[in-house]
Amino acid sequence: MVILGGGFAGLFAVRALRSAPVAVTLVDSCAHHLFQPLLYQCASGILSGGQIAQPLRAVLRRHPQVRCLQATATDVDVAGRIVHAQRPDGGVLELPYDDLIVGVGVRQSYFGHDEFAPYAPGMKTLADALAVRTKLYQAFEMAEASTDPQERAQWLTFALVGGGPTGVELAGQIREIAGHTLEREFSTIDPGRARVLIFDGSDGVLGAFGPELSRRTARTLDALGVEVHLGSIVTEVDDRGLTVRRKDGGTDRVEARTVLWTAGVEAPPLATALARATGAEQDRAGRIRVEPDLTIAGHPEIRVVGDLMSLDKLPGLAEVAMQSGAYAGRRIRHTIEGRTRAPRPFRYLDLGSAAYISRGRAVVKMGRFRASGLIGWLIWLFIHIAFLTGFRSRLGAVLSWAVVFATGSRRERAFTPEVPHGAAAPALPPSGPPADPAVNRHEPPRPA
Ligand SMILES: Cc1cc2nc3c(=O)[nH]c(=O)nc-3n(C[C@H](O)[C@H](O)[C@H](O)COP(=O)(O)OP(=O)(O)OC[C@H]3O[C@@H](n4cnc5c(N)ncnc54)[C@H](O)[C@@H]3O)c2cc1C
Repeated sequence: MVILGGGFAGLFAVRALRSAPVAVTLVDSCAHHLFQPLLYQCASGILSGGQIAQPLRAVLRRHPQVRCLQATATDVDVAGRIVHAQRPDGGVLELPYDDLIVGVGVRQSYFGHDEFAPYAPGMKTLADALAVRTKLYQAFEMAEASTDPQERAQWLTFALVGGGPTGVELAGQIREIAGHTLEREFSTIDPGRARVLIFDGSDGVLGAFGPELSRRTARTLDALGVEVHLGSIVTEVDDRGLTVRRKDGGTDRVEARTVLWTAGVEAPPLATALARATGAEQDRAGRIRVEPDLTIAGHPEIRVVGDLMSLDKLPGLAEVAMQSGAYAGRRIRHTIEGRTRAPRPFRYLDLGSAAYISRGRAVVKMGRFRASGLIGWLIWLFIHIAFLTGFRSRLGAVLSWAVVFATGSRRERAFTPEVPHGAAAPALPPSGPPADPAVNRHEPPRPA
């Protein structure tokens, strides 16, 4: 059988099949399992890439029946039961299957404005998190080097599009970096004066957590110095900032050299290919509608799990992905074991959700139970330690959290420099004797 995607859904499907006598091919574009809920901590320099991303081979080394392949699934030949995939070098793979589990997740949506993407990176992959880390820390460097007060203010303004968990978490992190981590490190600028703004079209941040936690989060953000602009739709983004349309129809221009996009998701192209091949319906975000047993109607051999499945308006949460992946794996195992009882439909057991706002402050919703502040943070800590993959990642993360909690300092601030849009790449210093001094002349970058 073939499993597409080594995220939470794919991994839990593999684990549920562990004792089944079946050869599994696990295909993933990235070859690592990424703990997406902590991407913002990698972006903000608390955790390293290695603490939130584990090689799938290492995670599955005790699953000898699993073959891992790094490839991107592009299409499914339903009649021939073959997955078409592309290797990173462009080579083509054809992977036959008896059963297929599709758990390739979703990607960032710019709501039809893909032209915003180069100026406002999203937060879905490890590469995204490292790109955001560069943007954040480099912005302070650019502000320090700037001699123009207006330009400096632009570098010290950070605009986040989206007031969901990722937007709130990133906003809290940036204010903490500005106010604590970088305190006393610069000679010209005061990083603590950095402005952090959230723009969201709805009436409250963290809407999915309910009105009470939404209000508490808004108060915490206010105390941290985050400016929240609700009922604001972003209509333009460029390398100098963004334009928003307010509820009253008026528009505002915000000059900000760092714009980050955390609003909305959509299904990847494979979903459209799969829908075309199977006749499956897609919802507004392109997710595949599934039957109560997670199969595609008319195709009992294909199951869609995790963020990519559309069923009963279930949210895109790690817990939904884990439970649906495990359910799909179990169903296949039961069939192989010859169990004949009619399958029970998939039921999601809501274990709650949590969002980290800043040091010692988080919000948690579990059924009717609500917590915020330090208690919320302690519960958040427990949940994330429990779910991080691998003992070493857990230990490393606990140490990093202890350091940031006690001192505000971050161990993972190194970044790969980015050339701002429109600027010439600075010439690298020569590594040997210059062949032609004119070519190797070091010129300062032109202003953007
Ligand atoms: C920034 C952020 C913060 C989040 N915070 C929380 C949180 O606090 N709590 C919570 O419960 N949830 C949170 N989530 C949501 C949670 O991470 C997702 O619901 C979960 O990761 C979905 O799991 P999945 O396996 O369906 O997809 P993913 O985890 O997205 O995994 C999909 C996998 O498929 C691979 N892939 C993609 N396309 C292809 C292809 N064509 N071929 C082969 N492989 C492919 C990808 O490389 C990836 O490994 C967050 C998500 C993000 C992005």
